[in-house]
Amino acid sequence: MPDLPSLDDRWILARRGPRNRVNPSLPYAHLVEPERTAQGCIEDMATIFITNKECPFRCLMCDLWKNTTTERVQPGMIAEQIRWALDQLPPAKHIKLYNSGNFFDPHAIPPEDYQEIAEFVSGFDTVIVESHPRMIGRRCLTFNEVLPGGLHVAMGLETVEGARPRSSMIWQTQSLPRLRAMSARTLLRSARAFATARKSRIDISYNSPYNEL
Ligand code: SF4
Repeated sequence: MPDLPSLDDRWILARRGPRNRVNPSLPYAHLVEPERTAQGCIEDMATIFITNKECPFRCLMCDLWKNTTTERVQPGMIAEQIRWALDQLPPAKHIKLYNSGNFFDPHAIPPEDYQEIAEFVSGFDTVIVESHPRMIGRRCLTFNEVLPGGLHVAMGLETVEGARPRSSMIWQTQSLPRLRAMSARTLLRSARAFATARKSRIDISYNSPYNEL
């Protein structure tokens, strides 16, 4: 079986088109729509698509970088984006704070903003954020502590299927054995993050590619 090409940052960046023009003072989208909850009922979900610095992982198949900045957004601006969007949106029971990457990446969401964000979303039953397992740790627990409602962390679970990479961590990989090893390590990290979060009563949902099979 031929080796995969060296999929490093430079290889991936060379194949990208231009970024969309975004305003770091505003989220790039916001909406409310009915959605199925973890309890199985249909309830209104607000989603705010926060504008912030690009995710550091640069997975090949990901296009979320298109609506991100190249620089860290100043402390206070993310909280202000959320306040602004909530003023525009109708009421909802739950809220997703999606930031085209990892909510617990301090270069994307400054930890200085956690308290203010928590106050703005205090009226929602559930706050859902996304994060790579590598970013789950002390900051996740800190945000959970300042939130009055429930915190739900959505994580992608990376895998490979045969010779075709289905991973969101295929940067800097050289060969299928290495991809397989990376996938195993990521599963272990996910399990550790899951255990940490469970201890603190944080819900985690896995967005596994196996769901698509
Ligand atoms: S970790 Fe997620 S957000 Fe970051 S590049 Fe990969 S798929 Fe995109």
